[in-house]
Amino acid sequence: ASRLIKEADIAMYEAKEKGRDGVIVFDDEMEKRVEYNLEIEQLLHFSLKNNEIFLMYQPQIDKKGNIEGAETLVRWNNEKLGMIPPETFISIAEHTGSIIELGHFIMETAFRTLSEWEKQGVSLCQFSINVSMRQFFYYNFINDVHALCDKYLTEETRNKVVFEVTESIIAEDVDKVVHIMEEIKQLGIRFSMDDFGTGYSSLSYLKRLPIDEIKIDRSFISELDDTTNDQIMVTSILNMAKQFNLKVVAEGVENISQLEFLQSRQCDIYQGFYYSRPLTDTDFQDYYKKH
Ligand code: C2E
Ligand code: MG
Ligand code: MG
Repeated sequence: ASRLIKEADIAMYEAKEKGRDGVIVFDDEMEKRVEYNLEIEQLLHFSLKNNEIFLMYQPQIDKKGNIEGAETLVRWNNEKLGMIPPETFISIAEHTGSIIELGHFIMETAFRTLSEWEKQGVSLCQFSINVSMRQFFYYNFINDVHALCDKYLTEETRNKVVFEVTESIIAEDVDKVVHIMEEIKQLGIRFSMDDFGTGYSSLSYLKRLPIDEIKIDRSFISELDDTTNDQIMVTSILNMAKQFNLKVVAEGVENISQLEFLQSRQCDIYQGFYYSRPLTDTDFQDYYKKH
């Protein structure tokens, strides 16, 4: 009986997450997923201590083909499960709260890398770090950022840091969001709206938030070749961004025709497999030196 109730409970939460007012059946597939997620949750707990978490860096290229910056992307290589994609474990870490510790580690590693690269002559214009929503709203977030800046960055390198947030933060109290952003911006750090176009993307919010950049979601870029709808969408985003004086990064640029379309519409920065996959620290430095 208790198992039946537990499974019904899991299905109920799933139904709620899917927007309520629906029916979800607890089946084998769901059972496996729940077990897998539970295992991830448990293993994630030891991942930092076991040195299983590391960062990769993906180049961002400007209109002239020069390296403008990099985005840091977290990786988790577990002994038992192998490589687990961030899309799987970040949401679980958000759920359990371990994102706070994980996010701190990511930021510290990223700041250290930025400072180290600068010393090695790998000098970028911008250096982007993904910040999850729960991390952003953590009561000590601003203090943590201050402390890590003091420890690793100079005024010059601080001005290169960009925090990527997603549109989901808009679901929270906007005044609070603006307050946190303003505090962080005092340090010289900029904000970018990641996965733009997939979430709430309301123009009125865009105007209220002190963001400096938007990243057009890769789902729009990947369909550029064959859907005129996406061409219109991307063109409108670029026009709108210009009006708001925002820099635009296109993510997931995979081929020359996508690149040419974006170039013809004056997109500022390109990121994607066409130029490079995410690279390890040393590979990124080599890539930089070759270019
Ligand atoms: P994102 O921030 O939008 O990152 C872009 C994702 O697109 C990355 O996947 C990157 O490897 C992938 N990508 C880049 N270029 C291409 C391309 O040309 N084609 C295709 N198909 N994919 C491309 P990744 O590294 O698996 O990360 C997925 C998501 O996980 C990220 O999306 C971000 O939301 C989250 N994430 C990654 N690292 C971190 C982190 O350090 N902290 C937090 N909070 N979230 C992270
Ligand atoms: Mg990102
Ligand atoms: Mg994105």
